[in-house]
Amino acid sequence: MDVKQRMQEIAQAKYGQELSQCGDGQLYHVLLQLSQELCQGRRAPAGERKLYYFSAEFLIGKLLSNDLLALGIYDQVSQALAECGHSLSAVEEAEPEPSLGNGGLGRLAACFLDSIAALGLPGDGVGLNYHYGLFQQELRDNKQTERPNPWIEDESWLIPTGIEFEVPFGFGPVKAKLFDIAVPGAHTDVANRLHLFDVEHPAPAPEGGIDFDKTDLPDRLTSFLYPDDSDEAGRLLRVYQQYFMVSAGAQLVLKELDERGHDPRSLSAHAAIQINDTHPSMVIPELVRLLLQRGLTMDEAVEQVSHTCAYTNHTILAEALEKWPISFIEKVAPQLVPILKELDARAKAAHPDSAVAIIQGKPGQEVVHMAHMDIHYGYSVNGVAALHTEILKGSELKPFYDIYPGKFNNKTNGVTLRRWLEVCNPKLAALLDQCLGTQWRTDPTQLNGLMDLYNDAAVLERMQAIKAENKRGLADALRREQGVELDPESVFDIQVKRLHEYKRQQMNALYVIRKYLDIKAGKIPERPVTVIFGAKAAPAYVMAKHIIHLILCLRQLIEDDPQVRPWLRVVMVENYNVTWAEKLIPACDISEQISLASKEASGTGNMKFMANGAVTLGTRDGANVEIADLVGPDNIYTFGASSNWIIELYDQKARDPKMGYQSELYYRRPAVKPLVDFLLDPVLTRLGDAEALKALWTDITGKDWFMSLLDVESYIAARDRAIHDYGDKPFWARKMLVNTARCGFFSSDRTIAEYDRDIWHLK
Ligand SMILES: *Cc1c(COP(=O)(O)O)cnc(C)c1O
Repeated sequence: MDVKQRMQEIAQAKYGQELSQCGDGQLYHVLLQLSQELCQGRRAPAGERKLYYFSAEFLIGKLLSNDLLALGIYDQVSQALAECGHSLSAVEEAEPEPSLGNGGLGRLAACFLDSIAALGLPGDGVGLNYHYGLFQQELRDNKQTERPNPWIEDESWLIPTGIEFEVPFGFGPVKAKLFDIAVPGAHTDVANRLHLFDVEHPAPAPEGGIDFDKTDLPDRLTSFLYPDDSDEAGRLLRVYQQYFMVSAGAQLVLKELDERGHDPRSLSAHAAIQINDTHPSMVIPELVRLLLQRGLTMDEAVEQVSHTCAYTNHTILAEALEKWPISFIEKVAPQLVPILKELDARAKAAHPDSAVAIIQGKPGQEVVHMAHMDIHYGYSVNGVAALHTEILKGSELKPFYDIYPGKFNNKTNGVTLRRWLEVCNPKLAALLDQCLGTQWRTDPTQLNGLMDLYNDAAVLERMQAIKAENKRGLADALRREQGVELDPESVFDIQVKRLHEYKRQQMNALYVIRKYLDIKAGKIPERPVTVIFGAKAAPAYVMAKHIIHLILCLRQLIEDDPQVRPWLRVVMVENYNVTWAEKLIPACDISEQISLASKEASGTGNMKFMANGAVTLGTRDGANVEIADLVGPDNIYTFGASSNWIIELYDQKARDPKMGYQSELYYRRPAVKPLVDFLLDPVLTRLGDAEALKALWTDITGKDWFMSLLDVESYIAARDRAIHDYGDKPFWARKMLVNTARCGFFSSDRTIAEYDRDIWHLK
């Protein structure tokens, strides 16, 4: 096909114009149509068994560049646009970012779909079509506010399929309409699909913020991802959403099974369902219910379902493991209750230990422990990094590991290097082509070949020049879009991820305070540093909002201080999302991965940064451990207490609250106290909400559940060392090179190949 000619034809048909006369918005729609035509012409991959990846989130990001690359026409389109005076990156600005995910878990699902298609495997995503998605963040008066984020335009990537199912809620049936987004596989001729269910009459965006009537069902079912669950109506709405997704999804699985000519008694031979965290867990009882309707006995239905479903655990944070009151399920989907009770009774009969029960609690107050159901009735349980899986086996899920050792396996996360290197960092990708040939694009382990260039001054200089160009690019984008001026000559030290106490943005802020106080005392740093944050806080997460407030107050304090500003800057990117990530990550010098050891299951941001030549400053947590093993101790900065020690400290405290970690002891240390007490200093508090800062101070000094003060001194030392080392250009450039050279292991193509080999067996 002549790509440019087809673009011209579409532009003529749509707008009656030449390409050169079209605006960026029009060109986006021309390319949207072209991509969709090409996707439609692709076949679905064949296989005896088909995978359905069930997930509450798919943080897919903008699709245009990614799809053009996967369709093999990226270069042709770029060139065609250039020939008529346009640029792909400008056209891309016109694309709204789909708002179907929240953080790492959703982005993982998106990377996985990309890799499943690229490996030519039959596997579709199943989720919900949120209209206002995750909220849009605004930063005003040093605080976060939330607005709806409508992203669906008249012409979008969503394809109506005409397929509908009825979801039987307690209050009556609701129609689920299916929309699809195509997922073309790079270097293949196949495409899979992301299936998104929607209600028939989705409600309009609420006025003003993101508050709405949570009982306005069914029209509100697909308004928002993770509605505020601080009240009962919000929690109930989540259960309604979950059941809507899994009931429609399970019906889709059975419909396709039927269309492929298979009996429901052979479900597990022809379908695999990956349950991405516990949000889709109700697919288990729902499938049992649907199989009973199709005439299977309870034994047969349970047998099929437990060889079809597999569960991925994403966290050991107890508060994130969902337990729903059975009264909620009684209300949302009463037909599931007898099935849940039967599944629970069978599990209890086989394993009387109450620690592994599905239904727990006193009569009248029973809750359903979703993860427990997944483990009993799934055939595989996987963690998402080596350390995380070991912690699941050894402590968090030990009673289950003792029962089902064969179900447990590790699948270290990965990221698609097509989006996270080829598309987001074209200059580095071109250099890699020059150095290694283009094979690394299909086989990222070839990047190891860069190690041969470890002492090649020209390559090292070029890598640094590319980093400098990317830093200027980020500075331009932030100036244009958020009015922020950056100094591209400074060290870019970046922590971007959801705001959570375990991720310890507050510890990063304590470092900023340390440097501020040093400069005020006349101790000038070796070189200027720009500390960049990007993070959304869940709307009802009060402490997270306090931490954002602290960061923004520090930012203002420093911006207004001509003595400090030349040496230390704080920037908080508003509305951190995939689009910003693609600009921030290639521009990063130091990647902050500072979660409390044992708490970050894997992280995937860490992998994206590494691939783009940022050097990690991190704890020995999640996949940081594997990064450290791959790059070696000279090419990463690690600090802080070990996960074993942290787990021991929590155990001690559980045995006796006076034991274990005691934040006030650390707070008393002379190097720590002034940093924390700065939260009460009028110099800072006059810029914001003294009560919020006081509440944060009280929490850190009295509780500090994620132990910032335990690690803060070693953190400061490691960070100072990294910033010092940065000054030795060739020394630093080699670290950059090693990080990119060793990132191939973290390709999600590798992860997906392992899922298929060990869990799915699709071909
Ligand atoms: C990769 C990614 C994440 C996950 O980052 P972590 O550092 O692993 O928590 C979150 N949000 C966006 C937009 C991402 O691209």
